[in-house]
Amino acid sequence: MTGAGEDFEAARLTVRLGAIVANYRTYCRMTGPCAVAAVVKADAYGMGAAAVAPALAGAGCDTFFVARLAEGVALRGILPQARIIVLDGAQADAVPALLTHRLIPALNSLSDIAAWSAAANAARTTLDAVIHVDTGMNRLGLAADELAILSGQSAARLSGLNIVLVMSHLACGDEASPMNAQQLSRFKQALAMLPPAPASLAASHGAFLGMEYHFDLVRPGVALYGANPQNTAQNLMQPVAILTGKVLQIRGIDTGDSVGYAATFRAKRPTMLATVALGYADGIPRTLSNTGAAAIAGGRAPIVGRVSMDLITLDVTGIDVAPGDEAELLGDTVSLSEVAAAAGTNEYEILTRLRRMPRVYEGRAGQTT
Ligand SMILES: *Cc1c(COP(=O)(O)O)cnc(C)c1O
Repeated sequence: MTGAGEDFEAARLTVRLGAIVANYRTYCRMTGPCAVAAVVKADAYGMGAAAVAPALAGAGCDTFFVARLAEGVALRGILPQARIIVLDGAQADAVPALLTHRLIPALNSLSDIAAWSAAANAARTTLDAVIHVDTGMNRLGLAADELAILSGQSAARLSGLNIVLVMSHLACGDEASPMNAQQLSRFKQALAMLPPAPASLAASHGAFLGMEYHFDLVRPGVALYGANPQNTAQNLMQPVAILTGKVLQIRGIDTGDSVGYAATFRAKRPTMLATVALGYADGIPRTLSNTGAAAIAGGRAPIVGRVSMDLITLDVTGIDVAPGDEAELLGDTVSLSEVAAAAGTNEYEILTRLRRMPRVYEGRAGQTT
């Protein structure tokens, strides 16, 4: 993040920490008394875990989920006290680092459980653990046959382990799918087969399916970063990621002139173009070629021609634009869900593609990094 916030930067990602905290509090209000953890995998969905996690901890969040062991190790350096859960599991080669950094693995299989229990017994101690059961996602977590084995031999297999959470993950939490009720029912059956422990099923979208999906802990990720957790309703989350690029050059072209690689856009009238310093190397999806839009100088300008590596071209005809003006590709005017739809992807991918952008943080006293 060297140089972030300096004036010479042609493009930047502004991250509103205050909005992340406000979005977190919205979940707390909605799901209380249930606890709210924060998912900060993929560098907090591209927003920068080193700044995001302390802001959330300051708002009272004490449980964080990461995907990779390395993410957990890095987060431990930032949050010495927090409960950090590593979703990837406890494969035998991960155990030493999990122990050293006091990370809690989500145990995804009988072999994860065996490795973690062996580590507890070898150290003559009790280790916290999360059990992840699969209820239909078929990605990570104990399968039904493994759960049955565990249930029959839980005292032996869980020896040395303190189960702090039993969790599962919804496949269709963002839709009104019959799979949600089915997974809910399978999850309740799984809980009945295991020793009593706090439970968690819902992520960002699942928390909006109703109280019965909340259990003891909800674990939102993408909504904390501004995505709409209710596809069919107004977005209750505040925008977090503001992506802007400077106009490098303005030019007028004539009817019939083309723009960009492969000349995929041809002007139907005399057209003013603004070339902006953002491209696919910055995380702008190339699929926004000839479909996306930007907010600039109080107007809205369509992206014309192909998105290239470092540049995009906007049709700014009729808008009063000058070199040095900033175009907003994502933010208050061009919403995350709009960009995702135009690019043919989801909000998650739009956010995480931005992880290498120079970032400026708003809402952290006196600091920009
Ligand atoms: C990524 C993830 C989450 C967070 O999901 P969002 O849809 O971003 O809220 C929660 N739980 C698990 C297991 C995940 O992998």
